[in-house]
Amino acid sequence: MLKLGQGGKTMNFSLVSIALLYCCILILCLPGCAGEVNSNESRIQGENSNSGIEQFEVERQQMVEYQIRDRGIQDKRVLAAMSKVPRHQFVEPPWKDFAYSDRPLPIGYQQTISQPYIVAYMSETAEISPDAKVLEIGTGCGYQAAILGEIAKQVYSIEIIPELAERARQTLSQLGYENIEVKTGDGYQGWAEHAPYDAIIVTAAPEKIPQPLIDQLATNGKMVIPVGSWYQDIVVLTKTEDRIIKEKTIPVRFVPMRRKLLK
Ligand code: SAH
Repeated sequence: MLKLGQGGKTMNFSLVSIALLYCCILILCLPGCAGEVNSNESRIQGENSNSGIEQFEVERQQMVEYQIRDRGIQDKRVLAAMSKVPRHQFVEPPWKDFAYSDRPLPIGYQQTISQPYIVAYMSETAEISPDAKVLEIGTGCGYQAAILGEIAKQVYSIEIIPELAERARQTLSQLGYENIEVKTGDGYQGWAEHAPYDAIIVTAAPEKIPQPLIDQLATNGKMVIPVGSWYQDIVVLTKTEDRIIKEKTIPVRFVPMRRKLLK
């Protein structure tokens, strides 16, 4: 046992004072530090910290104002959906802080989530009504599907990479979307079981428009699809009673549409 004389008591007292001082400093500093650390962590998890959630909310509203409304998107339901859907929940942790930036982002397996403006543009151009049944080809992370889920009655989405399809299913179900069904498969063939569709949105680019998708589009329905190889244009295809009208709109770069299930 340590025997402490007068000096020992003084040392003890000093130690206690120093310890107390440390405690005070820690108590004063921790909320600030914890706020930052937690805010980052909870931004990654998308829960717990109000400041993280609020920051994403602010960034989302700015995205809608400056990237979408300012560039001419007017459909109120599309704007409301883009303001509501938490895009940061659809991207992987390293990319969450960039979720609301004006660019596509990697989602793994060499695929990307489209730039916010393109998601809004395709959703508006498809002229989707609240009672519409919509088919999406290329679920990816499920973000475009969620936007469609907000503005349509029912969404069917097909993804060729099984891991992405599964991840999208999980994200969409965690966010409570019950009107979106995701299937793993080759979207080139469409999803005949639920056809006809009031709108079809394709987010992987084929070199020419797949005939099965034209067949599965309802009369007066619209398909919005990037067509081309290296560079593509978004083509808006309208099916009327007696003809198919195709209109080239904006130039884009999407990942190519694949034709086989990957191993
Ligand atoms: N809409 C997506 C982005 C899609 S990226 C989102 O919001 O995240 C294009 C996706 O199309 C990729 O995930 C790719 O795997 C998928 N894809 C490519 N070819 C396909 C095909 N033939 N059928 C279904 N999905 C396909």
